[in-house]
Amino acid sequence: MAGTWIERDASVVWHGFTQMDAFLRNSPLVIESAEGHELIDVDGKRYLDAISSLWVNTLGHRVPELDQAVIDQLGRVAHSTLLGHGNTTVVELSEALAEVVPVDEPHFVYASDGAAAVEQALKIAFQYWKNEGSEGKTTYMAFGGAYHGDTVGSLSVGGDGFGSSTFDDLRFPVVRAPGFDDPAFIDAAIELLETTHDELAAVVVEPLVQGAAGIRVAPTDGFKDLEASCRDLGVLLICDEVATGFGRTGSLFASEICGIRPDIMALGKGLTGGYLPMSVTVTSGAIYKAFLGEDLGPKTLYHGHSYGGNALAAAVARKHLELIRAPEILANVNDRAEQLKRLLDERVAPLAGVADIRTQGLMCGVELAPGSPGERRGRLVCAGAVARGVLLRPLGDVVVLMPPLTITEPEIERIVEALAESIEEVCAP
Ligand code: PMP
Repeated sequence: MAGTWIERDASVVWHGFTQMDAFLRNSPLVIESAEGHELIDVDGKRYLDAISSLWVNTLGHRVPELDQAVIDQLGRVAHSTLLGHGNTTVVELSEALAEVVPVDEPHFVYASDGAAAVEQALKIAFQYWKNEGSEGKTTYMAFGGAYHGDTVGSLSVGGDGFGSSTFDDLRFPVVRAPGFDDPAFIDAAIELLETTHDELAAVVVEPLVQGAAGIRVAPTDGFKDLEASCRDLGVLLICDEVATGFGRTGSLFASEICGIRPDIMALGKGLTGGYLPMSVTVTSGAIYKAFLGEDLGPKTLYHGHSYGGNALAAAVARKHLELIRAPEILANVNDRAEQLKRLLDERVAPLAGVADIRTQGLMCGVELAPGSPGERRGRLVCAGAVARGVLLRPLGDVVVLMPPLTITEPEIERIVEALAESIEEVCAP
């Protein structure tokens, strides 16, 4: 095959959220392998994976127990369909998840990506009301700045930005509450609920942290009021924990920190520890029961994906859940989160180029002060960190730090130092 790996990549691979005309100018890496928290590129250079491979990795790469779980499952079966039939590994995974998810009498509908789990949640909420005989509950309330994925339904409940306006003619209208950057967003949402609940199938929210909005952290208290209003007014509560789930916020689920029990929950990313694409929509027993009826009748959930409940992914997810429940994992998240916050306060917050720092557990956004038009500071700062061996990726001018849950003390220091040096270089007055 002619050319370097990156030339070969650029000639055949179309990368998501990437302008391919500029791809090669942005010094992309081609990863060949990994060890622990480091990715290793085709030239043998190592990069600390400080974004957990886009927020999916939890315990590092090539974890022996997770590798073994995949190998063992390969000795049984890689995949068998969940449409109308079962798989022992998926049953075991679901039983294990049922012990931990903050949803009453949970039932699990599997898919492969976060967006698909949200899409399923939207459709299930929509059909729930039809099955219950309630007419007119055909839309959703969602929040400004929200991000729920890129399929048309999840894009519709998502806020503006990230190119979503290109698809405005396709996106269905929703009732839009303010984003988490408005301190009164919960009160505003509750007021809107009072006037629109007749039309609403569900409220969709990222509990505690709006990730893609730039790690916007909300106070915990308000979510209980939102949940109470939903219950009082007959609107389902969908919590999208695709990003916040599986330990990232310092608790297994952000809903626990908020003290809420959603009717429906979307999980993805960390479900398999970053190994294999698997997501799941969790519904309460009450919702599940509303879909029971005559065989092939109209109450059936007519939705399902070819690879939903893939056995290899289920095997790794089941083992991952066992590992992540060891108390030292969440203890490490909370200790390292404290260290990260302290180091950022000391080393990064005082820098001229920094406007704000927001953290919750090991989810962190460092917002840069606005640069000159077209400067793309976020990208430049991350490129500087990559050149220093720390892989970062920005959301606009917010640099996101999302290290694995098992990140070590020296590695946190390495991340903060690389970030600080890069900000000093890029944002020098
Ligand atoms: N919901 C949230 C809150 C997310 O952060 C993301 C992805 N960043 C998604 C949904 C979509 O997940 P996926 O990219 O796996 O489709």
